[in-house]
Amino acid sequence: MYQENEFTKWYLKTIQDAELMDYTPVRGCITFRPDGYEIWEHIQAAMDQRFKETGHRNAYFPMLIPESFFQKEKEHIEGFAPELPWVTEAAGEPLEERLALRPTSETMIGHLYAKWVNSYRDLPLLLNQWANVFRWEKKTLPFIRTSEFLWQEGHTAHENEEEARHETMQMLAIYKEVVENILAIPVYGGTKTESERFAGAVDTFSIEAMMRDGKAVQAGTSHYLGTKFAEAFDIKYLNRNNEHTHVHTTSWGTSTRLIGSVIMVHGDDKGLVLPPKIAPTQVVLIPVGPFKKHPEIVAKLEQLQKDLKAKGIRVRLDDTDQTAGFKFNKWEQKGAALRIELGPRDYENQQAIVKARDEDDKQTVNLEQLVTVVEEELAHMQQRLLTKARQFRDANAHVTIDSLAQLQQHIEASKAAGTIPGWVLAGWCGSADCEKKVKEETKFTTRNIPFQPPVQKSTCICCEQEAQHTVWFARAY
Ligand SMILES: [Zn+2]
Repeated sequence: MYQENEFTKWYLKTIQDAELMDYTPVRGCITFRPDGYEIWEHIQAAMDQRFKETGHRNAYFPMLIPESFFQKEKEHIEGFAPELPWVTEAAGEPLEERLALRPTSETMIGHLYAKWVNSYRDLPLLLNQWANVFRWEKKTLPFIRTSEFLWQEGHTAHENEEEARHETMQMLAIYKEVVENILAIPVYGGTKTESERFAGAVDTFSIEAMMRDGKAVQAGTSHYLGTKFAEAFDIKYLNRNNEHTHVHTTSWGTSTRLIGSVIMVHGDDKGLVLPPKIAPTQVVLIPVGPFKKHPEIVAKLEQLQKDLKAKGIRVRLDDTDQTAGFKFNKWEQKGAALRIELGPRDYENQQAIVKARDEDDKQTVNLEQLVTVVEEELAHMQQRLLTKARQFRDANAHVTIDSLAQLQQHIEASKAAGTIPGWVLAGWCGSADCEKKVKEETKFTTRNIPFQPPVQKSTCICCEQEAQHTVWFARAY
């Protein structure tokens, strides 16, 4: 499943079998089915709680943005223009000005912030929006890259650079914490190179995650926008010295591509493996054997379901008339974290069988201790998935490749061995030409300049001159 084509095939089958999404007649626009949407709701809840704890509030801005707004920030329009869908008529009449379906909301929010910010007393302004956005992609992959997707975009305005930069880093740290502790995905935080920067940003920071095929996913970004958008939209305020001056703004976002990342990091040949904290089904209760002849079994499972629900655990009872084997398979595909089996003999012995989705072994647990064991097992599984993902990433993050020839050799050798090339930590002189050459020859792009690289590099992987930065290079989604 590590081979590129095989992995994509596996991924597409997995998300369909798990009933997370479905395709629609609109190319690149998917439907989130309830289990897919619920994973998003759990991610959303974790993020939203942290945004609010750090003083942010939610607001909602329109989906349609006048074309003239995009013209105000030159780099921004250059970056987004190729992917914008447009509304050109309404109620049978052509519109005077065409309207874009938002790819992101800096322009609309800039327009409004100019009205709302007048004095230093109005700052900082800390807003977040949960919304859908559009980027008309040529090549799409459900959850990872779609023409319409769900996300959150935070937009803040500050008195000065120091505060705005502090905000930018604070939000990146929140992303890292949620992705590691809730999604069980280890990430490297770092700075994007100029070519990978957000269109219109002064600095872009990202967290980068490794999928099981060795490719990288940018799991979240946070941008320091300087005064670029403030100048474009005339967001000025009266400062403490009674002078009119521009605010410093930030924006930061994570999207439903996190769902795709979770699947690509934790999934296995049987289907979905989900960290318990975001699994729509944390526990599935399955009666086994001739349970129809023993009504006490389903009655016991119903009682157990109540007890687990009372503890805040998401639990489902599958007492349909399909075979136990069929149900085991189905709930494995759907990524139920724990399975509890109860048959006539187990009931006689007042015990049940507990199996975690990510382990082969089952354990026998006394019915009286079951609720406690379930709580412990969910916590253990959450931790195991993070540890396993970290070991996998570290084993596939190479730090001893220091020239383009070595990188090419490494890629060829991986191909021959049927393994993944993974990531490569290498030096970079800072020239866009070197970055481009590496990309053209290997399809490896710069992911980020990690804040804490495992080792520091001294020479550029491409020109072999002195390195200015130590950078993660990888193929990316
Ligand atoms: Zn170079």
